[in-house]
Amino acid sequence: MLTACSGQSDVHDTRFLMGTLVEFTVSDSDQAVAEQAITAAAAEMQRIEDTFTIYGDLPNAVKAFNRSPVNMPVSLPDEVSRVLAVALHVQQQSGGAFDPALGGMNLLWGFSSDPPPDSPPAAAAIEQALPPAHCIERHGSQWLRTDSRCLLDFGGIAKGYAIDRGIALLKEHGIANAIINAGGDLRLIGEHHHQPWKIGIRHPRKPGEVITSLALQGDKSIVTSGDYERFFIYNNIQYHHILNPVTGWPATQYQSVTVIAPTAMLADAWSTALFIASSSVLPATLSVMRVGRDGKTVGTLQ
Ligand code: ADP
Ligand code: MG
Repeated sequence: MLTACSGQSDVHDTRFLMGTLVEFTVSDSDQAVAEQAITAAAAEMQRIEDTFTIYGDLPNAVKAFNRSPVNMPVSLPDEVSRVLAVALHVQQQSGGAFDPALGGMNLLWGFSSDPPPDSPPAAAAIEQALPPAHCIERHGSQWLRTDSRCLLDFGGIAKGYAIDRGIALLKEHGIANAIINAGGDLRLIGEHHHQPWKIGIRHPRKPGEVITSLALQGDKSIVTSGDYERFFIYNNIQYHHILNPVTGWPATQYQSVTVIAPTAMLADAWSTALFIASSSVLPATLSVMRVGRDGKTVGTLQ
């Protein structure tokens, strides 16, 4: 779906990746170069989805790790090791709010499964499936899981990493001004016809409306985690896909959390972490805005 008419117009393309519509916008570039760059970026993002997903039939190292015997060290591809190390660092910095070992819980809730769920699991099943904190350990260049309930799930970080890799591919193709927007999670580079890019942050309760707008340029990543993204309502209670690792139940403090960070991977992980954690753990390189359960906004994005 290309809508550019001259070399200086925007080139737009939309692909279905990582369970969401991903919009590519390239500005002030030759159209053929932009199209080639977007195709390469989309292929790279698909490769990352296939590498990290725990869903579907395609075998990968993450799924194999999740079946590995408890306490047996296993090698993971370098790329998976690197992202896992970042995930564990965010887990540590966020006081355990971010937890990449909730795969069993996420499968039990089923928010990423087809068909999506319409009622919560039994409380006893949640209690049984809840892994102990810090159940993934590094042993030299290898990794092991200390508990059979401990299943890796990169659902809170892989989309951001994929966006970063997509932007890297665009840059390799000589693109200087672009946005990759994966359903509201985005990274932008450069500017838009010599002006800052205009970014709207979705209102968590008013579909189609924005809660704030930003003018950004250079290299910025903005990611929002919301309770409206994947949810069901059961007995008048809204259940959504971001789980408190301590309880195994959806976190209830916020409607949405938006983070600006140097990379989309960090913005992704931290928007999930800060959906659960208190702001006292916030690293200085991030800015955050949260919409509470009462609809009140706390924090400013810069
Ligand atoms: P989205 O994928 O909708 O953009 P998030 O980035 O906030 O949303 O990630 C939510 C996903 O992260 C869930 O679908 C699940 O796979 C995983 N997840 C849920 N709770 C946690 C948590 N406490 N820490 C890390 N990952 C989580
Ligand atoms: Mg996230």
